[in-house]
Amino acid sequence: MSGGRRRRAGGAPPRADGPGGTVFVVSAPSGAGKTTLCKRLLGEVEGLDFSVSFTTRAPRAGERRGVDYHFVDRREFDRRRRRGELVEWAVVNGGLYGTSAEALREAAARGRDILLDIDTQGAANVRRLVPGSVLIFILPPSRKALRDRLLKRGSEGAEALERRLGLARGEVEKAHLYDYVIINDALEDAYDQLRAIVTATRCRRERQGRRLASIVGEFAGRR
Ligand code: ADP
Ligand code: 5GP
Repeated sequence: MSGGRRRRAGGAPPRADGPGGTVFVVSAPSGAGKTTLCKRLLGEVEGLDFSVSFTTRAPRAGERRGVDYHFVDRREFDRRRRRGELVEWAVVNGGLYGTSAEALREAAARGRDILLDIDTQGAANVRRLVPGSVLIFILPPSRKALRDRLLKRGSEGAEALERRLGLARGEVEKAHLYDYVIINDALEDAYDQLRAIVTATRCRRERQGRRLASIVGEFAGRR
């Protein structure tokens, strides 16, 4: 991407300023481009942390412990779940996945935003449990495009590919439960849209609390 294009997209989004940050939830059928979009967002936007989930699935090549996931066994997962250390949890593709309550608490305490890459079951639970959370669904432009991307990524055998496409059907049916839908056709456009959602959320009046009060106070001659 050229620097010019990035500048036109609006520069750095305003920093988090409200009482605790916003929880952004991103879901998508596998292969839609969620990882590509989220990694770039996390690399370019300040004040935004990634929520590292717990999972019982095995690490894939290149995945780092404590960065991509906290990889734990079933016993450890159940222990954390019983102790209330998971905000939500779900079974996805035969593995257990759960969001760390501590990660969310810490981000809120530090006034940082946090990005959750979780499935549609988890998103529905976060919507219920975390008021003000912002839910974003990423859609491929078509079933064919999704199949092509999964093939291009080369991470699945033929059988797993068909299973992923089967699962995608149930997931895209949940898109209407989200606040925002991004159709990831041209990658640059989809990225600009994702970034715009973060920017717009940070511009909400309730998120500008302290600065707004300070500026209004200055006009009123209070300082
Ligand atoms: P997900 O995390 O949703 O499973 P990935 O980010 O791994 O998806 O993307 C799947 C594949 O599709 C990757 O090879 C990625 O480079 C490619 N991809 C992502 N977005 C686009 C796009 N807009 N156009 C074409 N290919 C894309
Ligand atoms: P993967 O194994 O491909 O990394 O992830 C499989 C699915 O699990 C993805 O849809 C991902 O968003 C979801 N997922 C990852 N972490 C969590 C979590 O903590 N909770 C829930 N509910 N889903 C998760």
